[in-house]
Amino acid sequence: MIFKCKNCGGNAVYSPEKKMIVCPFCDSENSYSRKDKETSYGLEVCPECGGTIPVEQYDSAMKCPYCDNSVIFNERVEGQYLPKFVIPFELGKEKTKGLIRDKFKKYTFAPADFLSEVRLDSMQGIYVPFWFYDYMTNAYYSGEGTKVRSWTSGSYRYTETSYYSVVRDMNIPFEKLPADASIKMPDSVMDLMEPYDYSKLTEFKPEYLSGFNAEYYNMPAEEIENRAKKKMEEDASAIVRSTISGYVTLTKSNQNINVLDRKTDYGLMPVWRYVYQYKNQDYPFYVNGETGKIIGTVPLSKGKVWAYSLTLWFLLTVLLASINGILGLL
Ligand SMILES: [Zn+2]
Ligand SMILES: [Zn+2]
Repeated sequence: MIFKCKNCGGNAVYSPEKKMIVCPFCDSENSYSRKDKETSYGLEVCPECGGTIPVEQYDSAMKCPYCDNSVIFNERVEGQYLPKFVIPFELGKEKTKGLIRDKFKKYTFAPADFLSEVRLDSMQGIYVPFWFYDYMTNAYYSGEGTKVRSWTSGSYRYTETSYYSVVRDMNIPFEKLPADASIKMPDSVMDLMEPYDYSKLTEFKPEYLSGFNAEYYNMPAEEIENRAKKKMEEDASAIVRSTISGYVTLTKSNQNINVLDRKTDYGLMPVWRYVYQYKNQDYPFYVNGETGKIIGTVPLSKGKVWAYSLTLWFLLTVLLASINGILGLL
C-alpha cells in the first residue's frame, strides 16, 4: 500500500514533528487516501509505478527506487505479522542530524566530512521489530544470616553470634522486557538503545511506516526469549537481595526463580541509522528515534592526527631554535 495526498496526489508520509500524516509537496495535513496494489501482483511490484522494488527477506516498508514513493507491504504488516503496538518516530531527520552534530562536533580527529550534510542526509529511519516479554515470576530464596553482639563484663569479653534463617518467597511481575528481533541490528547496540518510554506505545497503524523503512520480526519470540529471561532473572535476584539487610554474614542455601505466567507481544521501535563509510569500512551510528540516545564510534582520521603531531613538532623546533638563539645572544 501507499498513502496518497487527496489534494495533489503526492506521497503522504508520517511527520514526527507534526505527529500526523502530511504531504511534503503541498503541506496538506491529514488528508490522504490509501492505495493498495492489485492482489494479483507480487509483493515486489510498486503499486504506483509498477517497478520492481528490491525487497529483502524481512523488509515490510521501503521506498520505491523508481518513483520514490514509500511502499508498505500489506502481507508483512497484517495477520501473523501485525504488530500490536508501535512507538512512532518522535525525532525527525533534521532534529536527529542536529543531535549527531552536537554530540560529535568536538571530535577534532574525526574525518572532515563526517558531519557533512551530504553524508548525514544518507541516514535512514527504520522501525525495528522487537518482542516484548511479560512475566509473573516467583523468586524463592533461603539462606542463613548471622548477627554478632560483643560486650565486656569484668575481665571477660563476650561475643554472641545469633543465627537466623532467612527466607524470601516473592511474586514479582515484569512488564515489557524487550529483545530486538532483527538479524541486521546488533543485539548489543539494541540493548544499549534502551530505555524506550513505553508511555508512548501506540496501537499500530500502517500510516506510521509511511516515509520510513521497516522490518517484520526475523524470528519467533521463543527463539530469542533467553535474552529477556536473563534480564528478568538478574533483576529478580537483585530485587530479592535488596530486601535482605542487617546481617554480618549471609550464606545462600537455595535460590529459585520460576516463571508462573508469561505473555509475549510484538512491536516496532524507531531507530535512525547513519552509516558512515571511511577507508572501505562502515561506521554505523544508531539513534533512538524516541529519546535521541546515540550509539556509535567515530573513526579517527590518521591524516588529521599526523597534521596535529607535525604542528606540535614544528612548534617544538621553533621553540628550541629560539632558545638556542637566546642562548647564542648570551
Ligand atoms: Zn499534496
Ligand atoms: Zn514505484
